[in-house]
Amino acid sequence: MTLKVAVIGGGIAGLYTALLLQREGHYVHVFEASERVGGRIYTYHFTDEKNQFFDAGAMVLPPTMAYNTVIKKLIDYVNTNPSLPADMTVTKLKEKMNYSGVRTLANGKINDWYSRGYLTPAMVGWPVPAGWENESVNDRMTWATGDFVEGLFRDFDATFSKLLPLDVQFGSFRSWIRTKRGNDEGWPDAFIDFVETILFETNAFDLSCAEIIVRQLYLVPSPGWSLIEGGMGRLPDAMAEVLGWDNITLGAYVKGLEPSENKVIVTAEGYNGEIKGTFGKVVVAVPPAALVMIADRPRWQPDKETALRAMNVESVYRMGMRFKTRWWDRRWVYSGSDGSDTMGEAVADIPVRLVMFPPVVDEQNLKDRPGTIVLSASGPDAQAWAPLTPTMRRSQAIHCLEKIINDRNIDILEELIDTFDVVWSNRSANGTTAFLPGQFERSLPAAKRAEGNIYFAGEHLSHHHGWIMGAAQSALDAVREVLNNADLVPLSKDDNKTTQGAGSTTRGSKAIQVPLRILSKRSPVPRWYRYPHQRVACASFGKGGQELGRGREFPGRAETCYLAGPYFEISYIFDAFRRSTIPFGAFMLLKSYAILDLTVLTTEHCMSSTTSDLESVFGVDLSEREMDNPAIFACLTREPVRGCSVAQCSYDAGVEIVNTTGSNITDLHCESPASKTGFRLWRRSSIGAAHNGATARQVALAWLLAQGEDVVTIPGTTKLKYLDDNLGASTVVLSAKGVAKIRQLAQDTYKTVTGEGYPPGQVDFLFVDTPPLWPHSASTNNRLE
Ligand SMILES: Cc1cc2nc3c(=O)[nH]c(=O)nc-3n(C[C@H](O)[C@H](O)[C@H](O)COP(=O)(O)OP(=O)(O)OC[C@H]3O[C@@H](n4cnc5c(N)ncnc54)[C@H](O)[C@@H]3O)c2cc1C
Repeated sequence: MTLKVAVIGGGIAGLYTALLLQREGHYVHVFEASERVGGRIYTYHFTDEKNQFFDAGAMVLPPTMAYNTVIKKLIDYVNTNPSLPADMTVTKLKEKMNYSGVRTLANGKINDWYSRGYLTPAMVGWPVPAGWENESVNDRMTWATGDFVEGLFRDFDATFSKLLPLDVQFGSFRSWIRTKRGNDEGWPDAFIDFVETILFETNAFDLSCAEIIVRQLYLVPSPGWSLIEGGMGRLPDAMAEVLGWDNITLGAYVKGLEPSENKVIVTAEGYNGEIKGTFGKVVVAVPPAALVMIADRPRWQPDKETALRAMNVESVYRMGMRFKTRWWDRRWVYSGSDGSDTMGEAVADIPVRLVMFPPVVDEQNLKDRPGTIVLSASGPDAQAWAPLTPTMRRSQAIHCLEKIINDRNIDILEELIDTFDVVWSNRSANGTTAFLPGQFERSLPAAKRAEGNIYFAGEHLSHHHGWIMGAAQSALDAVREVLNNADLVPLSKDDNKTTQGAGSTTRGSKAIQVPLRILSKRSPVPRWYRYPHQRVACASFGKGGQELGRGREFPGRAETCYLAGPYFEISYIFDAFRRSTIPFGAFMLLKSYAILDLTVLTTEHCMSSTTSDLESVFGVDLSEREMDNPAIFACLTREPVRGCSVAQCSYDAGVEIVNTTGSNITDLHCESPASKTGFRLWRRSSIGAAHNGATARQVALAWLLAQGEDVVTIPGTTKLKYLDDNLGASTVVLSAKGVAKIRQLAQDTYKTVTGEGYPPGQVDFLFVDTPPLWPHSASTNNRLE
């Protein structure tokens, strides 16, 4: 039976609801109060010129699995739909968020070199009880939440159910973190305040315990976030286009929902007067505060009415600023690079809490062109902006920005062309949902419950709330209920296929053939298999190895940790400089374990905060892999680097040798002046040509393999052809002289390069020999050989 369904609200929840129902063959009509679709996805264009926009609402797509099962598939769905014009394609800009807060302004002190996760109270003079001064934000958050976050990543629902009792027992995250758990002693309040200020917004830790831990899941992988080319607004625009504009009424503010027999009469205030329609079912996809303001609707049970009124929503404030030139590109501390194709942020504890420096694409002579940045605040920090007039907000924003930039050579006022801002709490009283202690259990089920023929969607009705993922998930849940079909699958490009091609090779089966083939040769993979699974061969430059070495994340697993030759030096430096360990690499290892009982080697390639991405399991976009067989996946964990990431790890200036295609260079150092020069020098050396036509990538891999039997590789790639290229390395045999020559070349190359590639002092450590063990590992020496 074909249903006739009204959808109230043209945000992503409403549009996703409508597309799902349309796919299932039902008639659907969307009523949207404003003059555009997208709701809290809102790309504001200062001009029609390229890159002259900013995202006033949702901006980034985290690369978690749950996200990919819905949002990634949605993007594929609209892009492959024949109704979508070619110029409306939604293009993901991957891993454009390479930096997460290089400049920090906290407690009146500016800190560069340390992105916010590495900050310790001592670095900004934040008073904390003795013994806590040198504890870093990342370290402590990982100790506290790492196992949950990893669990959420692997199995969101199962792990989430374990979080709920914490809410009941402790209430807020703050209460919970005050208690001792495992290795982590209870945090003193002053340290809690410090972490909350640097990593979240004011009062965040007084929210539900589960709320903050889920946020960690989404916030942790920041370097692996993607953006949408041309702004996030392209996604709802494309969805509306596919749905058909005839099925959407803009400027239709729904003010009445009147159940009548088996129908619901929808009344809206339209541009040309009142609109009325009768529908079999209605899905209400508006924020709770907007729903309670629909004047003529049934009064539902007290638990539902209370839940809707009580649902906690945090204010969010966003201002876009357009400048005559992209002055922030002149100093990498603002943008995370010297170039313009990666995103950066600066964090501050003043009314502007975050400054984002979005990347631009496909433009020449950027430094002389106008560009935009985004200022942001949430929670109470955002509420402070609401009472100000637009002029006052602009003046306050300039003032704050001047403090953060703190550079006499940059005249903000002289540079400024225009500003535009959104106080989100002034729009449908929304911002983003932020559950208070106990609200997951108390409010969510009642708020979600259908009432007769009226169903409910919206980001606030999902455990993934606060993200467009949550909005889409809530829509999927609502449509499953409407159609009484719990197995209804998300939108995907398969929905657009007319014929299925009997006997065609699926991606999975294609991938399965690959490991069988490569296992029969000498290649990185068989060597990798040879290790008994209890042992870990670790040539780590960073977090993965450190965590592994500490044996904390891998109880019973890391019986042996091999620290392989020259690679370890970077790990040492990283640790010495940061005095902290980022756990994301550990997640990667853990994940590999979860998939296959294998010995894993992890490599790391530089000591900047970007490494958290490269090793992060969150940086892996499984759904986009050409080879999605786990056996392959487990050895292909370095997606951001299309070539051989291992060789990339070997040297700084040599970093780029493996990216000889010149594309997809995502490493921080590639963006720095030093490395750009290094890249050119290295390429000129034609190392590949010197080895009988082997590619530079192959030579680099071969070099790595030549380091010893304990050294195995995880060459990262997403494409089969690159895998073949990598495997070709097994046929390249380097002489001892050749091996030495390559290292020498890297070293010499670096010497000829100038520029701000590293923090002062780090350069001295670049080619030092491997130190025996890193300083703080003494307590875990028994785990190391
Ligand atoms: C500043 C900001 C930054 C964010 N950043 C990110 C991010 O980086 N990544 C991410 O994934 N998520 C992010 N989010 C969250 C994400 O934007 C939201 O979770 C998601 O867009 C919510 O979608 P929705 O459809 O549930 O609600 P909305 O987008 O709010 O849509 C509701 C729609 O209903 C309409 N409406 C309201 N009342 C009525 C009525 N009576 N009649 C008809 N229509 C009505 C509204 O006009 C609106 O269009 C951010 C949110 C904000 C505010």
